[in-house]
Amino acid sequence: MVLAQLGGSISRALQQMSNATIIDEKVLNECLNEITRALLQADVQFKLVRDMTTNIKKIVNLDDLAAGHNKRRIIQQDFISLAVFNELCKILDPGKPSFTPKKGKPSVVMFVGLQGSGKTTTCTKYAYYHQKKGWKPALVCADTFRAGAFDQLKQNATKAKIPFYGSYTESDPVKIAVDGVDTFKKENCDLIIVDTSGRHKQEAALFEEMRQVAEATKPDLVIFVMDSSIGQAAFDQAQAFKQSVAVGAVIVTKMDGHAKGGGALSAVAATKSPVIFIGTGEHMDEFEVFDVKPFVSRLLGMGDWSGFMDKIHEVVPMDQQPELLQKLSEGHFTLRIMYEQFQNILKMGPIGQVFSMLPGFSAELMPKGREKESQAKIKRYMTMMDSMTNEELDSSNPKLMTDSRIMRIARGSGRQVHEVMEMMEEYKRLAKIWSKMKGLKIPKKGEMSALSRNMNA
Ligand code: GDP
Repeated sequence: MVLAQLGGSISRALQQMSNATIIDEKVLNECLNEITRALLQADVQFKLVRDMTTNIKKIVNLDDLAAGHNKRRIIQQDFISLAVFNELCKILDPGKPSFTPKKGKPSVVMFVGLQGSGKTTTCTKYAYYHQKKGWKPALVCADTFRAGAFDQLKQNATKAKIPFYGSYTESDPVKIAVDGVDTFKKENCDLIIVDTSGRHKQEAALFEEMRQVAEATKPDLVIFVMDSSIGQAAFDQAQAFKQSVAVGAVIVTKMDGHAKGGGALSAVAATKSPVIFIGTGEHMDEFEVFDVKPFVSRLLGMGDWSGFMDKIHEVVPMDQQPELLQKLSEGHFTLRIMYEQFQNILKMGPIGQVFSMLPGFSAELMPKGREKESQAKIKRYMTMMDSMTNEELDSSNPKLMTDSRIMRIARGSGRQVHEVMEMMEEYKRLAKIWSKMKGLKIPKKGEMSALSRNMNA
């Protein structure tokens, strides 16, 4: 995700501040200037950024900083990071959607948006996401404006094995929408998704069509789809759509490819339109729930505990979960735990997505688009760890790894000494991050992220 660059810049600014011997007004200002620069580069509106820095300065007691209380440096540093976290959450918080469909109860969800925004792709992603969770979704193509729209939806739906409805001959989108919704209601589908025609410009006739489809199908929820590359211009677009149709939720697409993603998200939030999902790629499963706190946690490299825990609950066998979680909360990160984590990660599927949820397992180990390479690297690390003794695997003291042990491991696994050393460096990096998790209350499935709760405390 290009957004990772924004997160990286902000984290670096915070890191630089924490490296300073004394945190005074000058150091704080430098840090905030860096953060400001990063946010403006991501096209976040100037006023939002200015308000954010003003608030942080208000929260952080500058007199305290001026006195240069060295002893309290750690507290100050955490305090400032927390203030940055909370302020970022504030500018990205889009509020709650007007309606949330319930599994087993029939709901009609209508998608609207400009042509090319990713609307048709997103309809299928939305259906597929729910289908995986046990829903019975169906797709209706009420786009008679764009040639090939029905074919595209049909192709996507077939690939995902989702029932679909459309017509090559009927030219009235309202009729198709009504027929499709009726058909799927009879088939007891609980999530009937209506894809409408895209708008080139905000042409009156097409807006009128959107209104007519809405009136005839009475959707429980209207989702507006927009492309993140427009940055802060998202504000005007979201407002315009809200004025024409009862937009209840927003999905922002193409968050993988555009540096302006932060600008788009904050602009949509400013219109108080709730963003519920983001699109992070062209594939069906490159689609993520948008929840502001876990999102900001991940952006700042703090990890998304709730997303990670959900994955753990999904993938790690039940009987192994308590033990693993216990080890994590103890903060001792041994090579064996790293090995087990790698095993889980290899099992977890779309590996890039899972990685970005793990604290520390960031873009460095897992750059997007290079998943295959990263997977090979993990397998290589695991082969080397296969040549370690139990003592080595269970120790959390890297000093145990003497030169002779490293040479033995390299020989035993058929790898080079420098590769074993590289793996040990990776281990040390991760161990440092995981040690910060010590004492962390691990949330149960479905509970809010422990990190977010700590942040609120
Ligand atoms: P529509 O005209 O609004 O229905 O847009 P489409 O669904 O046809 O999408 C337009 C283009 O955007 C297609 O090439 C999609 O593959 C692409 N697309 C959609 N969502 C995403 C996304 O989240 N990331 C990326 N990279 N591409 C996307």
